[in-house]
Amino acid sequence: MLPATTDVLIVGAGPVGLATAAALARAGVDVTVVDRAPSAAHTSRAAVVHAHTLEVLDRIGAATPLVAAGIPAPRFTIRDRDRTLVPVTFAGLPTRYPYALMVPQSTTEAVLHDRLTAAGGRVVRGCEAVALTDHTVTFAGGERVTARYVVAADGMHSTIRGLAGIGFGPDAPPTDLSAGSSGGGSGPSSPASSPASSDAGPTGTSPADRSGTSPADRSGTSPADRSGTSPADRSGTSPADRSGGPSGGRSGGRSGGRSGDSSGGESFALADVKVDGGPPRDEVVLYFSRAGLLVWAPLPDGTVRIVAAVDDAPEHPDAAYVQALLDDRGPLRSRARVTDVVWGSRFRVRHRVADRFRAGPVLLAGDAGHVHSPAGGQGMNLGLKDALALADALTETLRSGSETALDRYAAERRPVAQSVVRFAAQLTRLATVPAPVRPIRNALLSALAHVPAFRRRLAYRLSGLDQRLPHAAGAPVGEESTHETDRTAPRA
Ligand SMILES: Cc1cc2nc3c(=O)[nH]c(=O)nc-3n(C[C@H](O)[C@H](O)[C@H](O)COP(=O)(O)OP(=O)(O)OC[C@H]3O[C@@H](n4cnc5c(N)ncnc54)[C@H](O)[C@@H]3O)c2cc1C
Repeated sequence: MLPATTDVLIVGAGPVGLATAAALARAGVDVTVVDRAPSAAHTSRAAVVHAHTLEVLDRIGAATPLVAAGIPAPRFTIRDRDRTLVPVTFAGLPTRYPYALMVPQSTTEAVLHDRLTAAGGRVVRGCEAVALTDHTVTFAGGERVTARYVVAADGMHSTIRGLAGIGFGPDAPPTDLSAGSSGGGSGPSSPASSPASSDAGPTGTSPADRSGTSPADRSGTSPADRSGTSPADRSGTSPADRSGGPSGGRSGGRSGGRSGDSSGGESFALADVKVDGGPPRDEVVLYFSRAGLLVWAPLPDGTVRIVAAVDDAPEHPDAAYVQALLDDRGPLRSRARVTDVVWGSRFRVRHRVADRFRAGPVLLAGDAGHVHSPAGGQGMNLGLKDALALADALTETLRSGSETALDRYAAERRPVAQSVVRFAAQLTRLATVPAPVRPIRNALLSALAHVPAFRRRLAYRLSGLDQRLPHAAGAPVGEESTHETDRTAPRA
């Protein structure tokens, strides 16, 4: 049941909308959060929560349950096959969370939802925002809610952002985060007709499936498990263009090509797989191999997330396809054997930052304000930090009557987004250089890795600790946090 009026209306109950709502509810603000999807998304998508995000989430009591649900990866290495090029360790960082926490997005959302309900809030589902007039949002069913402030947390294709007249232009080199992923992770209303739809996310295996049901439940790569428009439709390429099997069209594979296409966006295959052997399960590895990029990222249910830059990613990568990628690009000594694909997909990357983060009563947060390549796993992390900063600003504004805090939010978060988008674009470009350049790139990286300041800087950027501001760690919201507020870290 929707109220006729509310102080803050949050459109979108993804991780960012949930975190904003939980923080506002804990602060005693009258908040309403809606989502058009009838139920929460079930796909793993963002698989890493970084140290600074955990520090920020601790303010709403979400860090401890997240840490309990995930697995810590204290090391991040760039390798060329068995040769370590750049070893990055989070272990020495000045934080309570000296690791990358590997945890599927569906679990993160469940924890945030729990924090919201613990504060007395709830998500009103099946409500699709379709119109905005001044302070009033109209939903597809004809209901209207008038709010003092409207938060656009409705993802990359944000309806509210568009209705508020805020542009979403390219902000970084033309690498593109668009959708080639299969299915509509946000439910039946996923914007399948949109030209770019990574927020729909790949579908396949539900979080319930991933947390211990039978193997039969986990075979999420069958087309029947997937909903929505085919990724090929969404990315503007015909299925015929995308027929590559394991031996065909891998980025740069043996042909030495690049994973871009005529649209300019790099193409990636993604699969969560069961695997025997392979690299350690407490380490995220980027293989910068001659045959192309491959990411190895362990997940808490024993599966491993594999991402590879490829020219023509299949809609449903199968075990043979992923095995061939691992054989061509992964470790030689500790070979990994894929036994099952739990969930697979493909995507392209696009980089965008909204022109403004505020337009009158409308404020943007999360993917509504910025999208970029998943390189470095920054997207959801950035959005969650928007969420807590925006909740602080809204709380202050509603208490004081002055909108200075909202203006500060908009002014501060956009440059942070631009910086993260640039970093992700740089990482993506580095990871997908053309085949002839790869040996030179690897030699340079290997030399740079001998400079401790370079490794430390990378650790700070990946963990997000470089974004710590004196006032950004903030105090616990509402109830007590489980830890003391962090001290500001030295700049790397
Ligand atoms: C394959 C893949 C891998 C990824 N990997 C990573 C990673 O490793 N690390 C990382 O940090 N990020 C990653 N991301 C990005 C991450 O998933 C997003 O950054 C994150 O989901 C953004 O959260 P959000 O709450 O802003 O938006 P979303 O999660 O997109 O949520 C938006 C919500 O708004 C709802 N909605 C949309 N329109 C309306 C409307 N008109 N009315 C009502 N409700 C509406 C939707 O149903 C949805 O629930 C990945 C994404 C994909 C697709």
